[in-house]
Amino acid sequence: TALVVAVDGPSGSGKSSVSRATAASLGLAFLDTGAMYRAVTWAVLEAGVDLSDAAAVAAHVRTVALVVGTDPQAPTVATVVDGAEVDLTDAVRTPRVTANVSAVAAVPAVRQDLVLRQRALIEAACLAPGPGREPGVVAEGRDITTVVAPDADVRVLLTAEESVRLARRARQDLGTADTEALEATRRGVVERDRLDARTTAFTTAADGVVTVDSTTLDFDGTVAAVLEVVGR
Ligand code: C5P
Repeated sequence: TALVVAVDGPSGSGKSSVSRATAASLGLAFLDTGAMYRAVTWAVLEAGVDLSDAAAVAAHVRTVALVVGTDPQAPTVATVVDGAEVDLTDAVRTPRVTANVSAVAAVPAVRQDLVLRQRALIEAACLAPGPGREPGVVAEGRDITTVVAPDADVRVLLTAEESVRLARRARQDLGTADTEALEATRRGVVERDRLDARTTAFTTAADGVVTVDSTTLDFDGTVAAVLEVVGR
């Protein structure tokens, strides 16, 4: 039988890298739902759609084909333009996409659209696992435990104290922890969390969701803690 692990958490909680390692360790697929919101944001920006026009944003997102690669060793996201696949794995990490993704993700019709696509990807990973893969998936985001897969076998909220999250994000984004860069990253992360908190309830664990606090844990320790919750 398939195993679905849902992981939510704020920026810098380590949820992406920890979920990937957890998926790899369990032989499961890995679904990064943030990358999907980022990819449709890239497409909306590319098309020059007015971001303040929610109906236009949602209408454009509906036309965007997403190709999501769920191998935990090398997760990818791509779109299809004029019949040709365009890889967006790096493009979705640019500051321009990061600065605009919260606004796109706040549009209810965009969320309805992407939630359906995410459920389809989870179902595919359960019914038709890739070669050498176990049936199931570790899916991470902001609303996986509550909206996308509330009936997941395992539901985890990954948290960490804000100062620790900010320092991790700064190191990740810049490969440095110098004060000025840290301050710019801090402002970006705090603002994105503030905007995202209006859309998704990723800061408090819903009923039945296990909180894993990584504040005092290193990467391997956090993965071990999540694997312990999974019980495998
Ligand atoms: O996790 P990541 O930082 O890549 O997510 C990018 C953005 O996508 C978040 O800031 C949030 O606006 C949105 N998102 C969301 N729901 C999810 C995953 C991501 O709204 N399940």
